[in-house]
Amino acid sequence: SDFPHFAAGSTKKTSGIPAITEPKRIAREDHPISRADISHAALKVLYTLKDAGYRGLLVGGGVRDLLAGVVPKDFDVSTDATPEQTRPLFRSCRLIGRRFKLAHVRFGREIIEVSTFRGPVSDDHERDDSGRILSDNVYGTLEQDAFRRDFTVNGLYYDIEDFSIIDYVGGLEDIRARQIRLIGDPETRYREDPVRMLRAVRIANKLGFEIEASTRAPIQELAPLLADVPAARLFEEVLKVLLNKDAVANLRALRELGLFGQLFPQTEQILQLDHSGAYLKFLELALGNTAQRLVEDQPVSPAFLYGALLWPAVEQRYVELLDTQGHPPAVAMAQAGSEVLGRQLQRVAIPKRFGMPASEIWNLQTRFDRRRGKY
Ligand code: ATP
Ligand code: MG
Repeated sequence: SDFPHFAAGSTKKTSGIPAITEPKRIAREDHPISRADISHAALKVLYTLKDAGYRGLLVGGGVRDLLAGVVPKDFDVSTDATPEQTRPLFRSCRLIGRRFKLAHVRFGREIIEVSTFRGPVSDDHERDDSGRILSDNVYGTLEQDAFRRDFTVNGLYYDIEDFSIIDYVGGLEDIRARQIRLIGDPETRYREDPVRMLRAVRIANKLGFEIEASTRAPIQELAPLLADVPAARLFEEVLKVLLNKDAVANLRALRELGLFGQLFPQTEQILQLDHSGAYLKFLELALGNTAQRLVEDQPVSPAFLYGALLWPAVEQRYVELLDTQGHPPAVAMAQAGSEVLGRQLQRVAIPKRFGMPASEIWNLQTRFDRRRGKY
């Protein structure tokens, strides 16, 4: 076999990926994507790679969204050119990432992410105790790259060579069935990278798709794996999922699947004890407000988001401190804020430039707090 890692009887540990070798190829006249749907910057990258003798394919969210009838946010490109080979082809191109190098090609305000085909995961990859992949620097073939993608709907390629769509992983079927399905064995794929649990929620709600049953089933139990993900990466992922037009639906799904409690344990605990539902309502209003601003193309702030997400815990601690310590309100609020923020930082990194304004928002609340009639 050309693909030893996928061969039957192989002792290499793979992601339970079946031995499929013949991809589906859908000719240009049999699918709805045309070059008019693709940004000039992305087309420019694809043709530049092709003219230099490399393969250039659109992959990921751009292809997925176009097939699902949604306007793509951005375009990702996949190629057999290494990042070092890609860089000199473009006037403005930066190589980023340590684990797996990517090229960022800039055209004005648009950035096209160009990734080199990834090789298969094997025992050679360095992992932590729960199976999370730590090193990832082996290049591979287009087919191998397809199976390294997270969901089938993200593993579809648009080939600039002949404008066909290439499907190794059954992504087209899942787009038709409107479902998000992991490629390979779900538990293995979540262990490799627990952030995929958050991505499943975000992408499903973005497209109005369901999370397919076997992809959904292990999440509740594997949610604690998020504790092993670096806090800085979780900060980025939390913004993607909650500073988002679908933030309210995402919050509900994250709570249902036990993911929210891994990210914001203090807040989740209060939401569960709060039978009045007032805190949940508050959070949904705050997230809905940000979502609305995004719809209207108004600026939104991570400080406001984190300020709201932690407010239930901050307020409870504030009231406790007022009652038990007799501190002045401003002192109690400052202390409550720093305690809650400090505990939160163990889960999700919040850069100071957002943590400080979030604290200021909390401190302001004391000025309006006339509950105690002290001021
Ligand atoms: P969007 O850009 O709309 O948020 P996306 O699917 O394009 O969604 P990106 O983060 O831009 O998300 O990733 C581009 C592609 O890279 C994905 O479609 C997927 O094929 C692959 N990818 C991203 N993150 C992972 C991951 N954690 N595991 C495996 N593949 C991934
Ligand atoms: Mg993308």
